Amino acid sequence: MHATQFQPSGKLQRIIGITGGIGMGKTTISNYLQTNYQLPVLDADLYAREAVEPGSQVLAKLVERYGSSILLPDGTLNRSRMGDIVFHSPAERCWLEQQIHPYVRERIESELQACVQQNRPVVVLVVPLLFEARMTDLVSEIWVVHTSNQQQIERLQQRDQLKLEQIRARIGSQMPIEKKLEQADVILDNSSTLEALFAQVDHALLHPKSRQHPLPTDRRR
Ligand code: ATP
Repeated sequence: MHATQFQPSGKLQRIIGITGGIGMGKTTISNYLQTNYQLPVLDADLYAREAVEPGSQVLAKLVERYGSSILLPDGTLNRSRMGDIVFHSPAERCWLEQQIHPYVRERIESELQACVQQNRPVVVLVVPLLFEARMTDLVSEIWVVHTSNQQQIERLQQRDQLKLEQIRARIGSQMPIEKKLEQADVILDNSSTLEALFAQVDHALLHPKSRQHPLPTDRRR
């Protein structure tokens, strides 16, 4: 597909929310959309990391709750230790998300406003916990990428230095992929090659279904 076939202009028309299970291919898709179509990509994970930067209120609350052993020697959050706590305790995960999600939502909303000012007609939002964090109202269409559970584990093992038990805990902490697929406007099957995935992405971008959800900017009027 030649990106030149896709040349929208004018005011914000589409906010594409990409989600799916951990390691199923969200970043692979958003990188492709950014590189091939020069679309702006907002990544909720980056904002979630910002939320716990040294000096942040959220990090101070984490230290208050879990002690300074939650920090690395350089004062940054020990993400692996934090992960082991929250991926084994739904109550702790819920508490942590309550601290982080408001910050993430605010950041996304302000970046979306910036995209409106810059006359960007199509924006990509990558939100791993789009459903769990109830952020579906931020997007105008929902794309859910999926693989088999086996492929998910194999790709995560290849990419991350995590033990099988840690991967299983992370997968188990999320909403089952079947539930996410039920709420998708577009389903992307990433069980084959990257070429096969990108062909589906091209199609979804070039053949938008009639909009399922209003744009957040429309709702504010
Ligand atoms: P996370 O939930 O951890 O943010 P993600 O959903 O963004 O992950 P990616 O990082 O895009 O997933 O993909 C996970 C891994 O699988 C990466 O190493 C990526 O290169 C690899 N991968 C993705 N799609 C394919 C594919 N079709 N074939 C082979 N490897 C793939």
